[in-house]
Amino acid sequence: MKIRVGISACLLGMLVRYDGGHKRNDTLIEACADVVEWIPVCPESECGLPIPREKMRLQGDPGAPRLIVVDTQKDETDRLVGWASQKLLELAGQGICGFVFKTRSPSCGVGDTKIFDLEGNLIRDRGAGLFARAFFKHFPHLPCTDEGRLQDPDSRERFLRRIR
Ligand code: SF4
Repeated sequence: MKIRVGISACLLGMLVRYDGGHKRNDTLIEACADVVEWIPVCPESECGLPIPREKMRLQGDPGAPRLIVVDTQKDETDRLVGWASQKLLELAGQGICGFVFKTRSPSCGVGDTKIFDLEGNLIRDRGAGLFARAFFKHFPHLPCTDEGRLQDPDSRERFLRRIR
């Protein structure tokens, strides 16, 4: 029986990115195909934002940044965080054993998301996206990583061992 693991949906090739595209990661998908049943999640499109949509970034206090549309400065934090609280319960019910996040995303990034101040100046480049933050809080013991780390075969094997 395969192990259920959540994944940022754009990594599976789903057309959910802000530009209407995807970031399919063939290496990762093929390497895990015998072991993993992927459960795709796209926080930004599933919380009701359109595809395509305006580009967003994290701004403000690095400890509690807001999800802001770059061009209009519209704050989409509450929409995404509100959706996430329900989605995390759903994922728990689906019995997921880990999650693979997309790098650098203001929603999905694990530790390489940029955070800007209110004037748009970069103040941190090692932040986590809002959905990833909520995920870590809800599932503090589940193995989580990002696609970048799993490009390395040894890291991939370690992750697969942990989810088993
Ligand atoms: S990085 Fe996350 S929010 Fe962005 S398109 Fe991929 S799954 Fe959706």
